[in-house]
Amino acid sequence: MSISTETAQPLKNYFAPHIAGLAGYVPGEQSKHSSDIIKLNTNENPYPPSPKVAKAITALLGRPLQRYPEPMADTFRRAAAEQLDVPIDWILAGNGSDDMLTVLIRTFSTPGDVVAYPTPSYVLYKTLINIQGARPVEIPFDDTWDLDDEALAATEPRLVFLANPNGPSGTVQSPERVARLATRLDAPLVVDEAYVDFAESSCVGLVKQFPNVVVTRSLSKGYGLAGLRFGYLVARPELIAGLAKVKDSYNCDMLSIAGASAAVSDQDYLAQTRAKIIATRTRLIEALRSFGFRVTDSQANFAWATDGPEPRPIYEYLKDRGILIRHMNYPGRVEGLRISVGTDDEVDRCLDQLRAAIASSA
Ligand SMILES: *Cc1c(COP(=O)(O)O)cnc(C)c1O
Repeated sequence: MSISTETAQPLKNYFAPHIAGLAGYVPGEQSKHSSDIIKLNTNENPYPPSPKVAKAITALLGRPLQRYPEPMADTFRRAAAEQLDVPIDWILAGNGSDDMLTVLIRTFSTPGDVVAYPTPSYVLYKTLINIQGARPVEIPFDDTWDLDDEALAATEPRLVFLANPNGPSGTVQSPERVARLATRLDAPLVVDEAYVDFAESSCVGLVKQFPNVVVTRSLSKGYGLAGLRFGYLVARPELIAGLAKVKDSYNCDMLSIAGASAAVSDQDYLAQTRAKIIATRTRLIEALRSFGFRVTDSQANFAWATDGPEPRPIYEYLKDRGILIRHMNYPGRVEGLRISVGTDDEVDRCLDQLRAAIASSA
């Protein structure tokens, strides 16, 4: 049976006011996986995940998927706890680290509460805070991408987010720097370590020292599992117990728990892809600088190029030739190009076209 979509009456505005007025988050373009397209726009890993992931998932397919999965993803928690050297009740798993961000906001803020974060940064924070009806307060990074702890603390936030490494800059605050911020705040400080696998330091050690520090992690970037949807957070068990009340009962499915557990247990594989990406990142940054851009010292899997050749026409030129990068224009900042680190071949082809784009507009 088919249903006619012809409508008799206009739809009333049933939306809650704060949802009706919401712009909604726009994810980066996902083209069809055509081999002609070079995708350097959403910071995915250009390399496939550890082969152990597929093995773990297929081994499960004969088992009863009619059963619910582990509510707390204990198989994964055991695997991650071993890597991080914390007890398993310091870990909460989720459907991507975006799920963790949602759970954090719902747990710690009520409508009207201030949730603060430095900006420019991950654009999704604002959307998630608005969905909760809480109040996003943005404190700009200074020109050197340093934090303004004073201003962040002065907002009297119920919750603070810090993407570290940050996007689009790829810059990192040292654990000592983050510790100073944590001491100043009377609220949970969420250190979003989605890109930590490409960085030289992590704040996960601060969780033991500072009761208000929460670290979120993703398997989407370093582990090459963006399609699996798996993330987790590390915090004191008292905080985990509160967060567990808010999450969906079965927020991770059986297949993703198995795949994610295999991935974090294969640290040798992570080290190999990480080394390749860091080497390619160095080459990408040096080339962009030689084209006249200013490029921050990125500790993530992307480069942020500003203050050089006009970015918008370059973005369009590359797009017309099947190379997707991001053109970003944040209010009150210089615009720029954010280019994900692909394979060596992808980055070479991107650089060739960039050179051509600059030559054609000169
Ligand atoms: C990609 C990203 C995430 C989301 O990670 P998922 O695990 O894919 O949900 C979170 N925070 C930042 C800063 C990111 O760049």
